[in-house]
Amino acid sequence: MRCNNCGNDIAGGVNFCPVCGATLQSSEKGKLSLIVALAGSVVSFLALFLPFLKISLFYSESQSLSLMSGNLRTDGLILSAILVGGVLLILTGKNSKGIRNFVVGGIVCFIALVDLFNNKGRLSAGSLITVSAGIGFYLVMLGGIAIIVSGVLRNKNM
Ligand SMILES: [Zn+2]
Repeated sequence: MRCNNCGNDIAGGVNFCPVCGATLQSSEKGKLSLIVALAGSVVSFLALFLPFLKISLFYSESQSLSLMSGNLRTDGLILSAILVGGVLLILTGKNSKGIRNFVVGGIVCFIALVDLFNNKGRLSAGSLITVSAGIGFYLVMLGGIAIIVSGVLRNKNM
């Protein structure tokens, strides 16, 4: 690999450039962490518009609800605000332990899980109605987990 500071070719797997002494591993990992955090946020955000819940009524076609529709809309808007604010928090400040990433990713996953189970309980009160998770739920979770993973990449002690 090539040192970003002096441009010399150096062997991989070292933390410091042997020529100029610049830190390598942390900046490479920092970039990767940022890419994973941004990708996770974009996936979670786009997933807000995909079917979060699939509702099947006895004898009728199943319907799907995204987090931006009906009663779920408030939670969808809260999640969008958390994602946008979370990206800004992750991009600013020192955050060398990736704590901000863990908090943002954790909150995103937590809200998605609470929404799924709350609405499952609320909507499937009658035995004729079944409620299951849609692709939107899984993608919001995937994005949240990616943001948590980006925190692990950012944490210099891990
Ligand atoms: Zn160098």
